[in-house]
Amino acid sequence: TIVNCPLVASQRRRLSWVQLAGHKGSFKACDEGSILKKFSENEKLCFEHLQEDSLKPFIPGYSGLVEMDGELFLKLTDLLAHFQMPNVMDCKMGVRTYLEEELVRARVKPKLRQDLFTKMLEVDSEAPSAEERQQQAVTKPRYMQWRESLSSTHTLGFRIEGIKRGETCNTDFKKTRSREDVTRTFNDFVEGNKNIINSYICRLEDIKQALKVSQFFKKHEVIGSSLLFIHDQTERAEVWLIDFGKTTALPDGQTLDHYRPWEEGNREDGYLWGFDNLLQTLFSLTAT
Ligand code: ATP
Ligand code: MG
Ligand code: MG
Repeated sequence: TIVNCPLVASQRRRLSWVQLAGHKGSFKACDEGSILKKFSENEKLCFEHLQEDSLKPFIPGYSGLVEMDGELFLKLTDLLAHFQMPNVMDCKMGVRTYLEEELVRARVKPKLRQDLFTKMLEVDSEAPSAEERQQQAVTKPRYMQWRESLSSTHTLGFRIEGIKRGETCNTDFKKTRSREDVTRTFNDFVEGNKNIINSYICRLEDIKQALKVSQFFKKHEVIGSSLLFIHDQTERAEVWLIDFGKTTALPDGQTLDHYRPWEEGNREDGYLWGFDNLLQTLFSLTAT
């Protein structure tokens, strides 16, 4: 389904701002060039940490907390501000989209969610088990794991969450799983433009170098974070790391390599494995 973008905010001020994922209402447009994202302590800590890290050039500028209408927000650079009518894609990275602690919590004290049961039915009426059908509800990790298995999260270590092209947003990629489908979706996104693909590859290679030396990356479990791809008609093309709402510091002394398969307890996220698959996908498009 193609839906109208929820937040092509205030044409008046010509903000090119768009939200492809996330809860509606968790963002506000701000003064020219900035956006506000609903506060979370976790994400604030990440942005503070990242100010001293090799990844800093690849994350939105962070200028602290702002209060508006009694609510707290993180003030971030609007990454779309310098583009003319950009095309935007959100790729959620990693082989897992929920925290280990969410899994434990759901086991110890399962919270049954009717809203997620309904969302499940909308995509696949066969998906809920007999028990879930009886309860008319599912737990959050169950829902997340089901979403992962439908998409390319398990098979490629990343998935496409949403794409904006022209005036329309499309978030209907829940079942885009095979390498072929993902590759085709990327090619449609760039409209086959090789200059744009090459710019994206260069930028990703710079990011990979920064990830390899990043102290932050080594010491954090990076869950639910995305790469945001942005390009426009002028062939300007950028990739940014966004969304650290579920990026969590490891206990002192512990590190991740971000490649090893995840087993419960090792906290691996498959971020770099997915990153390499993503690079390969783009490389394959330069050859055709
Ligand atoms: P979720 O956890 O469901 O993915 P969220 O509420 O944590 O959502 P984000 O993933 O950070 O929100 O952002 C949602 C969308 O908003 C992104 O896909 C992107 O389109 C847009 N967005 C986020 N940050 C920026 C930014 N700094 N500049 C421009 N657009 C942004
Ligand atoms: Mg996100
Ligand atoms: Mg998030």
